[in-house]
Amino acid sequence: MTEDDQKPPRSEETPSGCSLPSNAEMKSDVSVKRTEEEWKKTLSEEQFRVLRNHGTEPPFRNAYWDEKEAGKYHCAGCGVPLFSSEEKFDSGTGWPSFFDTQEPENIGSTQDTSYGMIRTEVHCQQCGGHLGHLFEDGPKPTGLRYCINSASLEFERDMQK
Ligand SMILES: [Zn+2]
Repeated sequence: MTEDDQKPPRSEETPSGCSLPSNAEMKSDVSVKRTEEEWKKTLSEEQFRVLRNHGTEPPFRNAYWDEKEAGKYHCAGCGVPLFSSEEKFDSGTGWPSFFDTQEPENIGSTQDTSYGMIRTEVHCQQCGGHLGHLFEDGPKPTGLRYCINSASLEFERDMQK
C-alpha cells in the first residue's frame, strides 16, 4: 500500500459493514514498532485481537459506544490522540462513532476489499494498530463516519469543563 491509496473510496455502505473484521495488511512503515510478543505483553487480549489482528468487537458491548463525557480518545496501542468527544456522535451502530478528527496525521487508511465490499480501513498512523472503518454516511458537515472499536481506544476524560 502506498500513500496514493489513502483516498477513501466511494461506496454504498450499510452500518453493518462495521461488524465484519478486516483483512487489510498491517502497515510496516510506522514509528512505533513492537514484535507480536511485545504487543501481547502491553495489550489486553481484546486489544491485541482488535488492534493487531484486525478484529471487531461486538456492538453495544464495548466500553465507549455510549460514552458522553468530554475528553480525548487515544490509541490504545501507542497513546497518540486520535479523536475527541467534540466529534463523537450517536450513530446507532453500537460502536463509538466520530464524524471528524482533529488528528488527521495520526490516522491512516487503506482499502479493505474483504467480504466482497470496498471499505476504508482506518488505523493508527504511529503504531499501525487497526481502529475500525470509515464510511461516508455520517452527519453534516463532513458526511463521514469513523466506526471505531472501543478496544482500540483509551478515553481520557477532560479534567475540567
Ligand atoms: Zn497507535
